[in-house]
Amino acid sequence: MKAIAKTRPEPGLEIISVPEPTLKPGHVLLRVERGSVCGTDLHIFNWDGWSQGRIHPPRIIGHEFCGTIVEVAADVTERKVGDFVASESHIIDPQSSMYLSGLGHVDRTTTILGVDVDGGFAPYAVIPVLNARPVPASVPKSVASMLDALGNAVHTVMDGPVEGRTILITGLGPIGLFSVAICRALGARKIIGTEISPYRIALAEQLGIDIVLNPAKQNVSEELAQIAPNGVDATLEMSGHPSSIPLAIRHTAAAGRLSLLGVFANFLDQVDLNEVIFKGLQLHGIVGRKMWETWDQMEWLLTEKGLDVTPVVTHEYPWDEIEPAMQILRQGQAGKIVLDFTHTV
Ligand code: ZN
Repeated sequence: MKAIAKTRPEPGLEIISVPEPTLKPGHVLLRVERGSVCGTDLHIFNWDGWSQGRIHPPRIIGHEFCGTIVEVAADVTERKVGDFVASESHIIDPQSSMYLSGLGHVDRTTTILGVDVDGGFAPYAVIPVLNARPVPASVPKSVASMLDALGNAVHTVMDGPVEGRTILITGLGPIGLFSVAICRALGARKIIGTEISPYRIALAEQLGIDIVLNPAKQNVSEELAQIAPNGVDATLEMSGHPSSIPLAIRHTAAAGRLSLLGVFANFLDQVDLNEVIFKGLQLHGIVGRKMWETWDQMEWLLTEKGLDVTPVVTHEYPWDEIEPAMQILRQGQAGKIVLDFTHTV
């Protein structure tokens, strides 16, 4: 079969011929139907410092995908042929004490599909049975392909109370955009975002954001002081931009929460921790998805709370058009890009 792979330690991705993956104990074989391109894939495409230290070519990429199980290993009883599933990208040892105590998302032994082991950007993929999460039939396939990423947003938003609260989301990339829709579905009183890209601002407005502040055009701190004089109840940090932490500390109300998902390229050296202390703020790092609480919450949001994130899916391509997909993502002119793996290459 063909697969999208990083073949050499240099920028770019290639479609190469590889043997079809073979089933192993504890695994399932998927006919992959859709894949969603993630910022992580762009890092790998660009061959930045992070990927140079982490990726060992040749590697089939892709950690956000969905498909139908076509074969299960003899020891697998939890899933069956015909189940439609989505990928959880974090591979955890199900016997580890962290996993057994509900903290699998921060287990130090975690490896990642499409990063540390071959991923799902191919017509067939073999993944651990634990990583194949059943998807309700009502969820569109394009959305099913990105549940791993949507789960990041669910985990961050539901890190604390939302209903009736004023929520600030710093950074409206795909995860920030998902968060807007989730806050809306959960009955937030007011949703405020910060973003500079007109493309993303338009998507956020489509998803029901109340106010977007643009740091390229406005003094965001002054605006926030007017909009929420007592501070916002929660800040969801999705940008990894160094200015967002001082902004969040200043404008989150006493006893409020800062849920931090965005990854910072450099250390921050100008953070007023005394304000964190005297305001009794909660700073909480968010990584991955709780296994499986986040997935249960996500299913509830999608099936019972009317969560609709389809506006975030801005592009769909046959999977051999990975190159134009990467270029559009690079230019920031996209929400989520979905690849169709049922297309013959
Ligand atoms: Zn991802």
